Amino acid sequence: MHRDSIVIKGARQNNLQDLTLRIPKEKIVVFTGVSGSGKSSVVFDTVAVESQRQLNETFTWFIRNRLPKYERPDADAIDHLAPAIVVDQRPIGGNSRSTVGTMTDIYSVIRVLFSRCGRPSAGESSVYSFNDPQGMCPECDGLGRVVRADLDRLLDTAKSLNDGAILFQPFAVGTFQWQLFAESGLFDPDKPLREFTQQEWDLFLHGKGFRVPRLNHTGRMGSNAFEGLLERFERLYIKRDLSTLSERSREAAAGMVSQRTCPACDGARLNQAALASRIGGRNIADLCAMEVADLIGTLAEIQDPVGGPIAAAAIQRLARLEAIGLSYLSLDRPTGTVSGGEAQRLKVVRHLGSSLTGMTYIFDEPSTGMHPRDIGRLNGLLRQLRDKGNTVLVVEHDPDVIEVADHVVDMGPGAGAHGGHAVFQGTVEQLRASDTLTGRCLRRSAPVKPACREPSGWLTVTGATLHNLKDVTARFPTGVLTAVTGVAGSGKSTLVSEVFTAAHPEAIVVDQSAIATSRRSSPATYIGIMDPLRRLFAKANGVDPGLFSHNSKGACPECDGNGVIYTDLAFMDPVTTTCRLCHGTRYRPEVLRHRLRGKSIVDVLALTAEEALDFLTEKPLRAKLRTLNEVGLTYLTLGQPLSSLSGGERQRIKLADQLHRTGQVYVLDEPTTGLHMADVDTLVALLDRLVDAGNTVIVIEHDLDVVRRADWIIDLGPDGGKHGGRIVFEGTPARLLESADSITAAHLRKAVP
Ligand code: ADP
Ligand code: ADP
Ligand code: ZN
Ligand code: ZN
Repeated sequence: MHRDSIVIKGARQNNLQDLTLRIPKEKIVVFTGVSGSGKSSVVFDTVAVESQRQLNETFTWFIRNRLPKYERPDADAIDHLAPAIVVDQRPIGGNSRSTVGTMTDIYSVIRVLFSRCGRPSAGESSVYSFNDPQGMCPECDGLGRVVRADLDRLLDTAKSLNDGAILFQPFAVGTFQWQLFAESGLFDPDKPLREFTQQEWDLFLHGKGFRVPRLNHTGRMGSNAFEGLLERFERLYIKRDLSTLSERSREAAAGMVSQRTCPACDGARLNQAALASRIGGRNIADLCAMEVADLIGTLAEIQDPVGGPIAAAAIQRLARLEAIGLSYLSLDRPTGTVSGGEAQRLKVVRHLGSSLTGMTYIFDEPSTGMHPRDIGRLNGLLRQLRDKGNTVLVVEHDPDVIEVADHVVDMGPGAGAHGGHAVFQGTVEQLRASDTLTGRCLRRSAPVKPACREPSGWLTVTGATLHNLKDVTARFPTGVLTAVTGVAGSGKSTLVSEVFTAAHPEAIVVDQSAIATSRRSSPATYIGIMDPLRRLFAKANGVDPGLFSHNSKGACPECDGNGVIYTDLAFMDPVTTTCRLCHGTRYRPEVLRHRLRGKSIVDVLALTAEEALDFLTEKPLRAKLRTLNEVGLTYLTLGQPLSSLSGGERQRIKLADQLHRTGQVYVLDEPTTGLHMADVDTLVALLDRLVDAGNTVIVIEHDLDVVRRADWIIDLGPDGGKHGGRIVFEGTPARLLESADSITAAHLRKAVP
C-alpha cells in the first residue's frame, strides 16, 4: 500500500465505471476531460465527500447530528485520504456584513493599526469594527445602507384607495389593512391620491396618535389607532425581525422597498467616533475604499516603530490579493457582489494565509473569470499551497493551468455513459504526446477567423458610468457573434450584464445557473416531450394519460412517486432506501404493464436521447429530441434528474430550447466555463448556428479559442478596476492582432500560429 497516494478502488459514483485510481499526494494533480466525463464525480462526489464523511465520523454523535450528512460514495475502497477543503465558485455565504476585508481577515489587521496609531484614538480595536455594537453606525447598524419604503412602488397615485392605489398585496382593497385607511373617514376613498392636499398626504403617510372608527366583520362599530401608511409599512415590514414574516410576505415587501446609502455614515458603516480617528489624514473607511494596489502604497508609507510592523503584516496579505489578480478590489466591497471566479480566488487567499499542511485542496476550474494574463500568477499560488505540504487537486480545462500539473488524470473517453474511465494518467508532457482527445486538443493551434460576418445593424449604450466605466459609449453589432474581452475587473460584466441588458431588456441571458424546477424535472420534462409521450402510451393502451404521470395517478402509493423512502434513525445518518414496491421507478407497478412497442414508460425514460431518437418515430417528439442531440447531449437519459446536470450541460439544454428562434439577442457570460477544448468546438458551432438563424450573440469570454472565432471583438481595459473601464479596441479578430495597446491582443498573438 502506498501511503503517499490516495487510492480509489472500484468507484461507481454517477457515471464512474468501476474506476481504480492512484492520486499522488503533495503534488498538483489536474483532472481533465470533456464535460460530463466524470471529473466532478471523482474529485467532488467521491474524494471530497468521503473525506468529509470520515472526518465527521470522528466527532461525537452530538456534534455529528449538527453537521451536514454525507452518504458514503459508491466505491469498494477509498484509502489514505487527508482532510479535504473544497475551494469552489459558490458565492461566499454570509450576509451583507461580509466584505472582502472581513472574509480575508485583512480588515482585522487594519483595525489593530488604527487602535494603535489612529489619532485621536477611539480605543481598542473592536471600536473600529462595524460588526461590533461599539463600532457600528447606530443609524444603519453597520450595514452602510438603509432600507426604506419606496413610495413609487408602494402607491399608484393616479388611483383612489377604492381603485387599489396601494399596490402592496397585504393592503389590497377589502383587506383589514386597507380598511384602516379607506374606512377611516379621514380621506375621500374615491379621490385619486395625487389630488390629496398636502395636509391629507402627510396624514396619510405619517399621521399617528389618535383613533379612528371602523366597521368590523360582524358589522358593529369598533375603533383603531391610526398610523400613517409609511410608518405602518416600515414598522410591520422593515424595522422588525424579518425572519418572523412568512416567505411570501417577505418577498412581497421586498418588492416595495429600495436601499440607499446610509445618510449618517455615508456608507462607511462606522460610528462618528471611529470615523474621526485618522492616520495620515485618512480614516479607516477611506483606506478600505481604496483599491488594493493603492492601499499597499499608502500602508508602505507608515514607517514608525509602532505602526510599521502592523502595516507590513497587512501588506503581506494584500500582496496575495494582488498576486491572484484581484488588485482592483477594495476591502469594503461586499462579498455578495463579487463574481464566482473572484469568490474562488478570495477563498484561495484565505487558505494561503493559514498554516495548515497535509490537507487536500480541491479546486473547481480556478481559471474562471481570469484573463490569460493572470493565469501565471494563479499557478504560482497553487504551487505555494503544494509546497506547504498539501495535495492540490484541480478540475481544469485551460491549457495554461494544465501546464502546472505534476500529474494529470484525463477522464473519458466521452461523456455520461461513454465516460467514467481514466483514459490517461501521467505528466503534462506525456499527455500532450498521447492519443487522447485532450492530448490532440493541446497540440492544435488555429488561426483567427479569416472572413467575418457583416453586422446587420447596431445596438448601442451611451455614456455608461456604472462601477468603473468611464463614460463608455459602445456599439454592439447585430446579426454577428461578438466577444467582449479584457482582463478581470476591466468592466466586461458591468458593461454587458448590467448596462447593456438594462438598456436592451429584450436580450435573453443564457447562463449555467440551475434551472428552477422541481426534483422531478428531467430532460424529458424540460424539452416538453412528457405530455405527448403520455398521450402516446394512453392511446396505444386505451387508458387515461394521467396514469403515465408519477406526479398524479401513476404515482407509486408506497413512496408517493419519489422512488425512495427516507428513514430517519436517531443518532445515525438518515437512510435512503429504494422503494420496495416500485423498485425506484416511481410508478405504480400496474402502469408498467402498459406498453408502447414493447417498452414500458420506465423503459422509455431510461433511454438516452440518442436511443430515443431511434425508438420514437412520432414527428413532434422527434423534432424535440433532435434538439438535445444537436447540442451534444445525446448521452443524457430522458428521465435523469435535471439537478444532476453539470453547469455546461445545463447551459446546453437551455440553448437547445432556443435553437429554432430567430431575431433574438443572446447574452452569455463566460459560456466556456466547465467546457473541455473539444466541448468549446461544439459550443462555438451552436453559437454560429444561432447567428446563422438570424440572431445576435454576445459573449463575455477569456477563452482565446472563442475570441479568435468571433466576428467582432470589444476589448475593455487597458487594465482592471480604476485602470480599466474604457474600450481599448473594437473590430474583427484579425485587426485585434495588430492592436498595440490591448493586453488581450498580446495573448492572442501568442496563441495563433
Ligand atoms: P464532469 O465533471 O466531467 O463534467 P460529472 O462528474 O459532473 O462530469 O458528471 C459525469 C456524468 O454523471 C454526467 O453525465 C452527469 O450527467 C452524470 N451525473 C452527475 N451527477 C449525477 C447524479 N447525481 N445522478 C445521475 N447522474 C449524474
Ligand atoms: P469584469 O467583468 O471585466 O471582470 P466587472 O464589470 O465585474 O469586471 O468589474 C469592473 C469594476 O467594477 C471592478 O473594479 C469591480 O470591482 C467593480 N464592480 C463590479 N461590480 C461591483 C459592485 N456590485 N459594486 C461595486 N463595484 C463593483
Ligand atoms: Zn450608517
Ligand atoms: Zn415506490
